[in-house]
Amino acid sequence: MVSIMEKKISVCLTFDFDAMSLWLGTFRSKSMSAISRGEFGRVGAERLLRLLHDWDIRSTWFVPGHTADAFPATVAKIAEDGHEIGHHGYFHERAKTPADEILDFDRAAAALKRVTGQEPVGYRSPAADLTPATLNCLVDRNFLYDSSLMGNDFSPYYCRVGDQAPADGPFVWGRETDLLELPITWGLDDFPAFEFVMTRNGTLPGFAAPSQMYEIWVGDFDYLYDRQGEGVYILTMHPQCIGRGHRLLMLERLIDHIRKRSGVTFRTMNEVALEFKTSNPRVPH
Ligand SMILES: [Zn+2]
Repeated sequence: MVSIMEKKISVCLTFDFDAMSLWLGTFRSKSMSAISRGEFGRVGAERLLRLLHDWDIRSTWFVPGHTADAFPATVAKIAEDGHEIGHHGYFHERAKTPADEILDFDRAAAALKRVTGQEPVGYRSPAADLTPATLNCLVDRNFLYDSSLMGNDFSPYYCRVGDQAPADGPFVWGRETDLLELPITWGLDDFPAFEFVMTRNGTLPGFAAPSQMYEIWVGDFDYLYDRQGEGVYILTMHPQCIGRGHRLLMLERLIDHIRKRSGVTFRTMNEVALEFKTSNPRVPH
């Protein structure tokens, strides 16, 4: 007789509420039109909050300090609705020096505390650009988890500090820490697929059909569910991107597909990290 494995899947809907900081920081734009694309993030965020309330789903929002200062009422409402607020830098850029990175990090954490009354326990690097200085910062400040790396897909793992990747020699593995990684992937991210961006360095064509992204997103979920049966499915979305009508309809279709499966729970990243660390304590080497 074939035993049917009980499914144990956590689904984390995560929203990077970059707003204007994405255009000011990452893209260095001075254009009012480009910056206003970030302003649309508030519209998208409010739509998403209504949907999440209707679905009775708690999610995780990574919020730059700049967004918390620009839209304090919206960011406070996200926290009041029971969603987790994670750290996402202050200005959505990589600071010029490691010392500036630490200043930026603490400035962002203070903005989140001021607006939500809570201190973040999780971090996601703006534009998935984690540096050793920020990683050390997370370890020094006892953060629970990071969500910027791509070394696995559905399985969290413990972060290392001190990795070295010399151009002329073998990769050197660093020391494992208690900081947990909840990994991401560009394939489960809305921004590169959907957003048209023109910069001096090149053009991101964007405008993928929602059906195309649905196929990728549902395909990864079905693989996890049907073939692995246990793990964490993390979607990275941006209110200014997923908040457009045709994309929200696609997201609704995906949520509907996921909710029909047994053994699936929607959780915040904080909850997933705590549970994983309890059931998979780090083994010191
Ligand atoms: Zn971001």
